[in-house]
Amino acid sequence: MKLLIKNAIILTVNQHNEVLENADIALEDGRIQAIGKVPENFQADKVIDATDQIALPGLVNAHTHIPMSLFRNYADDLPFWPWLMEKIKPAEDHLNAEHVYWGAKLGIIELIQSGVSCFSDMYFYMDEVATVVKESGIRACLSGVLLEVDDLGPTFMKAAIDFHDSWHGKADGRIKAFFGPHSMYLCGPEYLRETTEEALKRKTGIHIHLSESRQEVADSLEKYGKSPVQHLADLGMFECRTAAAHCVHVSTEDIELLEKHKVSVLNNPTSNMKLANGFAPIHAMLKKGINVALGTDGSASNNNVNLFEEMHLAALVNKAVTEDAESVPAQQVLRMATINGAKALGLENEIGSLEVGKRADLILLDATKPHYFPRHNPVSSIVYSAQAADVSTVLVNGKVLMENYELKTMDVAETMREAERMAFDLVNRATL
Ligand SMILES: [Zn+2]
Repeated sequence: MKLLIKNAIILTVNQHNEVLENADIALEDGRIQAIGKVPENFQADKVIDATDQIALPGLVNAHTHIPMSLFRNYADDLPFWPWLMEKIKPAEDHLNAEHVYWGAKLGIIELIQSGVSCFSDMYFYMDEVATVVKESGIRACLSGVLLEVDDLGPTFMKAAIDFHDSWHGKADGRIKAFFGPHSMYLCGPEYLRETTEEALKRKTGIHIHLSESRQEVADSLEKYGKSPVQHLADLGMFECRTAAAHCVHVSTEDIELLEKHKVSVLNNPTSNMKLANGFAPIHAMLKKGINVALGTDGSASNNNVNLFEEMHLAALVNKAVTEDAESVPAQQVLRMATINGAKALGLENEIGSLEVGKRADLILLDATKPHYFPRHNPVSSIVYSAQAADVSTVLVNGKVLMENYELKTMDVAETMREAERMAFDLVNRATL
């Protein structure tokens, strides 16, 4: 299949952050064949006219719990611990595969509609999420969650191993499997060591929550005499490619350790603010050279999976906190939402920028709306004025998943209906 996208404003997010005006992109067999000027003999099977549209790499939402769309607007305005332990966990105790399937479906529709072409997820019943990834055409790095609660540690370990071994590389290579130990406060040291060994054996990565709340750090200091970051470093976890969500409460020494071990940090500004956990010192991490990506976290703590909001907030929050308007500029934020996300998942040679040879994962935004005018700077427009609802077209692996706002692979009305039915069923079970 050969596809030609014509006449776009292209934000390549390549090494030089090149922006191309009135440019074309040629796609063949799921990869980018040419960009800018396309050879005249390129015979396309399909042409997309992208006049007045901005083309950019599909966004990478690097930290989600996608089936938690079921808990959207269910537990709000609560502190972190009561939110997690009194509202979310009791409901999750009643989860079954069908709940997760429909919750994932709802979340993945929202991802595609808001321009995300790849997401990194950690949750229960990950087979169901993988099934929806396969059906929908999106790309994902999926981690079966590992927890040591209610004596279920070994059960989760077996499930995570089985998940990896049956899904890694599947769905035309669109699925990658990581291991997802929830956190150092819900997994003991031995369990974390074992998880690291299993991940190393399979040459894959780890997705974990780290230093999210003050409480987590205080408990770690009391129990182990060291910070959560130091604790994981000492356990050898960072021998693995590690993507650590949050890293809100980190010391200068912690930041040095993260840098030394090439840990990717997944920044979730909305979730950190909503759960009143604070602000991650992203400006300091970026200065150190740490790879910082962006995520939304689950819809119970956000309450959407819209990465445009996170880009906007990441830029603004860091300026406000540092009282430095030059801190975390728009171009850097765009990199966080694209190529840095790809790096966190070990996919930087495949996705994250629009370059010849890379996978054709790209989105088009309709820049004909008033909030794009006057058109001084397209990068600023994406970070500071664009809305997720401007995403008109989404391609993953060269396949069109949404064109001119129309989803090609999923039934929106059916999914909203079934997901809501599942959500109410779950809450009823939890509150009986
Ligand atoms: Zn999370």
